[in-house]
Amino acid sequence: MRIPDIGKTIAEQINTGVIVVDLECNIVEFNRFMQVHANKSLEQVIGCSIFDVFPELPTRWFNRKLSSVSSLNSPGFCSWEQRHHLFELPHHRPITTDSHFMAQNCTFIPIEDNNKVEYVCILIEDATDVAHYQGKLNKALEELAKANRIDGLTQIFNRKHWEECLDKEFSRARRYDHDLALIMFDLDHFKRLNDNFGHQCGDKVLIETAQRVNALLRSCDLFGRYGGEEFAVILPETEVSGALDVAERIRAELEKQVFVFQDQELTVTTSVGVASIQPSDTRYENLIANTDAALYKAKALGRNQTYQYKVNHLSNAV
Ligand code: GH3
Ligand code: MG
Ligand code: MG
Repeated sequence: MRIPDIGKTIAEQINTGVIVVDLECNIVEFNRFMQVHANKSLEQVIGCSIFDVFPELPTRWFNRKLSSVSSLNSPGFCSWEQRHHLFELPHHRPITTDSHFMAQNCTFIPIEDNNKVEYVCILIEDATDVAHYQGKLNKALEELAKANRIDGLTQIFNRKHWEECLDKEFSRARRYDHDLALIMFDLDHFKRLNDNFGHQCGDKVLIETAQRVNALLRSCDLFGRYGGEEFAVILPETEVSGALDVAERIRAELEKQVFVFQDQELTVTTSVGVASIQPSDTRYENLIANTDAALYKAKALGRNQTYQYKVNHLSNAV
């Protein structure tokens, strides 16, 4: 096949790969871009099967593509997002990418001869830069989404995300009439600890507290930092007796934990409030208010203890 000279000149100059194959997949045109990037001369490829020249091509997929483009007489496309590349062409970018090969957008164009499709032209565009920056953007978006959910100090859920979780769990429990319990705990006399040992020490205690408690929870429990030194755990499918067990385990674990800061050993206790979903609760905020009331009672009655919220009165759990 002869491409008209003007077309051939363009094909030789453009910064895009051009391969023309007949319907038996034999190469009839191979432009300079392809010669340079595939490091193959015209003599090495013209008349050869494209599968011999590029053994990495997915044969079945490629044959199907060619057959649909030629039988429908309409172009086809394959972006780097669907397949990173078809042809293993090294890229020459000074940037680090995940692949050694050039990311490619490939367009398949049917070419008619005497009103019948006889050839398919494949245009191969270098999409390495786009793929690289898209990858970076996706990573940044992922990190941003994580930062939106996670508390920077303790690495557990932040208040906003934790409340969104509670909202969902509350609606689910209401809809299916399932159990749902909440634990809120607040470190005792934390201000004093900060005053005596410094803010950095306080931060370390908060980080280690989150780690210790995390290790006690089930994977379906949702643990968040509610405020400064106040934490909260959503316990789906859990009735109040189960929640009290968990609350006591948290309290006992923190009581026995020894923190070491600049060679000094110190301990911290915690007060814990527990509540479960009540028939009268219409919003998740009701459950928070009840749990918070129980926590407040635990503080008022001497700290380092667990209290359970009950309708009309608050009872000591231990
Ligand atoms: P209580 O037993 O009644 O809970 O007394 P408390 O001292 O723990 O409570 P209070 O609310 O008076 O003080 C909480 C302290 O927690 C004050 C605040 O500076 C400290 N705090 C809040 N967030 C952080 C933080 O991120 N890091 C550190 N180091 N301290 C914090
Ligand atoms: Mg406190
Ligand atoms: Mg507090």
